[in-house]
Amino acid sequence: MRVSQLTYALSLGGLISAAKDALDHPGDACAALAAAFPLDVAYPNTALYIQASNYWSDRQGEVHPRCFVTPRNTEAVSKVIKILTSRNALFTVKSGGHTAFAGSSSIANGVTIDLVYLNAITVSADRQTVSVGPGNRWINVSETLDPLKLAVVGGRVADVGVGGLLLGGGISYFSGLRGWACDNVRSFEVVLASGHIVNASPIANADLYWALRGGGGSNFGIVTRFDLASFEQGDMWSNYRIFPGALNTTLIPRFQSLTVDGLPNDPAAHSYLFLTYEPPRGGYIAVTSFYHATVPSPPESTPSVFAPFQSVPGAIDSLTLVANMSTQSRIPGIPYGSRQTWWDTTVSATSASLLLDIVPLFEASNKILFAAANGSSIVPFLIFHPIPVNVITAMQQNGGNTFGLKPSDGPLMLVQLATSWEDARLDALVEESSRQLIANIESMAKKRRLYNGFVYMNYAGSTQQVQRRYGKNNERKLKRIARKWDPQGKLARLWRGYFKL
Ligand SMILES: Cc1cc2nc3c(=O)[nH]c(=O)nc-3n(C[C@H](O)[C@H](O)[C@H](O)COP(=O)(O)OP(=O)(O)OC[C@H]3O[C@@H](n4cnc5c(N)ncnc54)[C@H](O)[C@@H]3O)c2cc1C
Repeated sequence: MRVSQLTYALSLGGLISAAKDALDHPGDACAALAAAFPLDVAYPNTALYIQASNYWSDRQGEVHPRCFVTPRNTEAVSKVIKILTSRNALFTVKSGGHTAFAGSSSIANGVTIDLVYLNAITVSADRQTVSVGPGNRWINVSETLDPLKLAVVGGRVADVGVGGLLLGGGISYFSGLRGWACDNVRSFEVVLASGHIVNASPIANADLYWALRGGGGSNFGIVTRFDLASFEQGDMWSNYRIFPGALNTTLIPRFQSLTVDGLPNDPAAHSYLFLTYEPPRGGYIAVTSFYHATVPSPPESTPSVFAPFQSVPGAIDSLTLVANMSTQSRIPGIPYGSRQTWWDTTVSATSASLLLDIVPLFEASNKILFAAANGSSIVPFLIFHPIPVNVITAMQQNGGNTFGLKPSDGPLMLVQLATSWEDARLDALVEESSRQLIANIESMAKKRRLYNGFVYMNYAGSTQQVQRRYGKNNERKLKRIARKWDPQGKLARLWRGYFKL
């Protein structure tokens, strides 16, 4: 072969492979889906499309796909994924749509697979397992289980989706006893990039089972059923107290001690504490949220684990509630209809002064945001989520999850920033200020040798490298597993959004 022929052959090879890799026109992918599922493809300006565009964060809701497809069973999901991957069409997947940043379960000009119709909930005859479709919200699960006096380790807020919460981790009211939600999945039914349907459990495809517990769904396949471990549970106890923000100096040391000693000694207890800015209440407020899986006697009393907070005077407001999961899960939450971002990191919970010193950093960063907002609404939150040693120990069940946390790393405190605002012109500033604040917290923790660095996917900012923070070995292992189950890298290339490996 002469040089010119060789050059031609090589360039022709390049053209052929470029054609093979070329992305499909999203309109063509929608047409192919509509041919296969005439009733289940929604185009703009239709009632179905508007209904499917319902996202918690406005930043997600304003990203418009070329079409939504709403498969009605696992076989249909398999067919959808085959159509999309064979055509090299860009897509994303939506369960409850409760992620904060644009593009995490929405896609501009591609196809959004909305799992809303995969909403079966089945309780096994022995009451040990509840099979849940990813189209459910947590309220659907608790409304099914409450009358049976059963519960699962799941979301704390009614309207959040089952799919994203379980695949990213899942902090639950019951985590002290049982670990995070992902630790309590008995098995997953998964549609792979090839369209094949497999199960993943400790005894079947154990590597995929491990990867799906925190590794993020978008790297491995579409989960069409979660089999969750269930347990007997009646009413729960909760208490919310609102204090003036200045009292954080009294509350935070007690909260740190609750994380180190109180919660491990009473694993049926659960708690988080946050600071936010509420001008109608006079500025900063600090809110303690306490939960107990066993109702104390009498029910209006406070479980002894939370007693140190009772003696803190000056609460502006307080609510104690004894109720089933459905009622409890309707209390917390942030309404739809704002722009949202989250960022998080993890520090050692052994030092109250570190936690206290985060507060002025938060307030200083807010000053800049408030000035830029110029009167438009912006609401920043600083939230401390304990990861006490008992929770990390419970995470080791079933071979452990992907987070790479060991009991000897604990006790830990997950520090989350959450901001809601209304003016789109503030997007870049809020993102950058959150990034910077997390960097400042991490650098302060490093200087004091109190840094852990775990980033919880479901509270992470869009540019945080979540899986890297699980440790180099776990990140490498996740990549190997993703390659094994998707050897052509179709999901890596075509499934847009959230934390890709
Ligand atoms: C008000 C509120 C309260 C919250 N409370 C809690 C809480 O108590 N505990 C906690 O841990 N977190 C909580 N979160 C965070 C929550 O876990 C995440 O936002 C989670 O991703 C939401 O899941 P979703 O299905 O609604 O989101 P979606 O945006 O639909 O999905 C999130 C990601 O998961 C992927 N995905 C979804 N379903 C599947 C599937 N079946 N297969 C493969 N990939 C899939 C999507 O493609 C997307 O990338 C809360 C969030 C909000 C807004």
